[in-house]
Amino acid sequence: MKIGVLALQGDFMKHGKILAELGARPVWIRYPRDLEAVEGLVLPGGESTTMSKLLTRNQLREPIHRFAATYPVLGTCAGMILMARRVDDPRVEPLELVDMDVTRNAYGRQVHSFTDRLELRNHHAGPVSGVFIRAPKIVRLGTPVQVWAVYEEAPVAVQDGRHVALSFHPELNGELYFHQRTFFPAHD
Ligand code: GLN
Repeated sequence: MKIGVLALQGDFMKHGKILAELGARPVWIRYPRDLEAVEGLVLPGGESTTMSKLLTRNQLREPIHRFAATYPVLGTCAGMILMARRVDDPRVEPLELVDMDVTRNAYGRQVHSFTDRLELRNHHAGPVSGVFIRAPKIVRLGTPVQVWAVYEEAPVAVQDGRHVALSFHPELNGELYFHQRTFFPAHD
C-alpha cells in the first residue's frame, strides 16, 4: 500500500521510515497529482504557518479535501494544527479535517522539548511515549471526536472519523502505534 507524506516543509523523511517499517511505500506529496497514487496521507511536523502558505501556493487544499473524504489523514504537531477547525494564529488557514480548535506552541519553546509517557485509552496497547516540540494543545474538542491518548489530562491524540491528529512526534522515537492504527486499523 502506498501512503503519501506531505513533503513541502518539515520532518517528512522520518515519516517515510515509519511507513516503510509498517510495510507501506511512502510517496512524497508536493502537487495535487501526487495524491492519485496513494491511499492515506501524513501531514508532518514543521512550521504550520509556512506549510499553510505552501498548501495554497501548490493548490493542494481542494485536492486534500477531496482525498480526505475517502482516505485517512494523520497529522503530527504542525500537521495537527493544519487539521483543526480553528487555530489561534490568523497566519494559519487550517484544513478543518478534525472537529477541534488548537493553540500553537502551548507546551513551551524549542528548549522545553520533552519526551514523556502517554496515557493510552486502549488498554491492549503497550506503553507509548510522545516527543513534544513546541507542540499544539487542543482547546476545544467536538463530540464526534474520540480520544486515543492523554498527557497530563489533556487530549494529545484524537480521531475524527478516519482522521487522526497528534500533538507530538511519533516519527522521532520510532513509535509505530499511531501510524499503524490510522492506516492499518485491522492490525489493531
Ligand atoms: N510550533 C510549530 C507550529 O506551530 C509546530 C512544531 C512542530 O511541528 N514540531 O507550526
